[in-house]
Amino acid sequence: MTWPPLRDELRGLEPYGAPQLDVPVQLNVNENPYGPSPECVADIARSVAEAASTLNRYPDREFVALREALARYLSKDTPHGITPAQVWAANGSNEVMLQLLQAYAGPGRVALSFAPTYSMYPEYARDTGTQWVVGHREEDFSLDLDHARALIEEHRPAVVLLPSPNNPTGTALPHDAIAGLCEAAADGLLVVDEAYGEFRRAGVPSALELLPEHRNLVVTRTMSKAFALAGARLGYLAADPALCDGIRVVRLPYHLSAVTQAVALAALRHERELLGKVDELRDERDALVGWLREQGHEVAESDANFVLFGRFRDRHAVWQGLLDRGVIVRETGPDGWLRVSVGTPDETKTFELALSQVTEEVA
Ligand SMILES: *Cc1c(COP(=O)(O)O)cnc(C)c1O
Repeated sequence: MTWPPLRDELRGLEPYGAPQLDVPVQLNVNENPYGPSPECVADIARSVAEAASTLNRYPDREFVALREALARYLSKDTPHGITPAQVWAANGSNEVMLQLLQAYAGPGRVALSFAPTYSMYPEYARDTGTQWVVGHREEDFSLDLDHARALIEEHRPAVVLLPSPNNPTGTALPHDAIAGLCEAAADGLLVVDEAYGEFRRAGVPSALELLPEHRNLVVTRTMSKAFALAGARLGYLAADPALCDGIRVVRLPYHLSAVTQAVALAALRHERELLGKVDELRDERDALVGWLREQGHEVAESDANFVLFGRFRDRHAVWQGLLDRGVIVRETGPDGWLRVSVGTPDETKTFELALSQVTEEVA
């Protein structure tokens, strides 16, 4: 027998891992380059100290105060508003999505997405014993609705996972596509992963607006990107309250620690400051897209805080050349493309200079 006695389908697999290298300019995992302000840090510290005094007790299992704050925050993105009963949260939206599959997919059921897409989705499927089916996106990374509908018709998925904006391409989905797919997948859930929702360009609506019309629609968000809180691990969703009740059945007891709840609540009090940085990052992104195109690169339209660009005959050589110059980007997406996160103006300059040098060498 082989040791350790892993499940057959896990044998020989490597754990998820974008390299965590100590490099001066880190543009590889779409983090917000701006840390919280001293005021926000002080508020977080005060809130954690307060929570610490009652750490002998289990936390509020229903995280009522946090659900109220998240509902208030989300209500700004939809004229219909969001109630706390529609909100669920967990340790990162990765955990939210795993819980969704635990409750609504599993053995004998199918989860479906369209490539290129977020590399974690097939892992949730594998870990919950869900069959994974993947369709494709078009050359420009948009979704062909006829293809999507046909695939849904064929496989009757329990869960369809669609990031909007998509990772790694930055592509946002139009409302009519989301609405159409909600109808096509009426027997299951349509999860629109808006991890990068706050970075969408002006005029691009959030799927939150469609919630009243589609009871099978789930919109997930995270505090990891726009709220610059990747280290705290807080993701959440908005959906029909009945769907949240289903998740309660599978969640681990007291899954959201009192410390996490305190940190997230404190960060939400500094929403205005944190979202101000989002506006700067959106401008920085648009400028970066423009610069890359001027240099003759192909660039995918981006509504996120990253840009997919290419195409390189040897993208690994370009990635390595950038790393040698102290800039780490992500080697992901279709062959020939690289993904760069939007950093501070200084970081962008360093990236642009390094890329110019590298492309001259490698081309
Ligand atoms: C970053 C990201 C998330 C967020 O993950 P967390 O677990 O909340 O940090 C979710 N979906 C996509 C597509 C992402 O890129």
